[in-house]
Amino acid sequence: MTVFEKIVNGELPANKVLENDKFLAFYDISPKAPIHILAIPKICIKDFHSADLELLKGLNEFIKEVAIKVGLDKTGYRIISNIGADSGQEVPHLHFHILGGAKLKWEKLG
Ligand code: AMP
Repeated sequence: MTVFEKIVNGELPANKVLENDKFLAFYDISPKAPIHILAIPKICIKDFHSADLELLKGLNEFIKEVAIKVGLDKTGYRIISNIGADSGQEVPHLHFHILGGAKLKWEKLG
């Protein structure tokens, strides 16, 4: 079981931002930006590549709700989803990083 499943089950604490029956958003424990939130489906799907369109449509709308809730819709934000080994994905449970709260740099990766 991944740490995100434990958060969904209530076995691990999380600083929650928004939740509904299908999705959960919480602050990243090791923030890479002044605002760093993770948005996940409650069911365990390993990554973006494995997710079906219906789920991604719901997650898309949920991410926008999260951004509005914390005011990132006004200032701008970045979303990132890591997929597999080369991306550096650590937790094999689909998640989008929602990053903002400052002017973010965009450096060459790899
Ligand atoms: P990734 O490398 O895309 O799989 O990102 C996983 C993210 O989960 C990292 O940014 C971690 O800091 C974050 N993370 C790991 N454990 C927790 C936790 N218990 N609560 C909140 N964020 C976590």
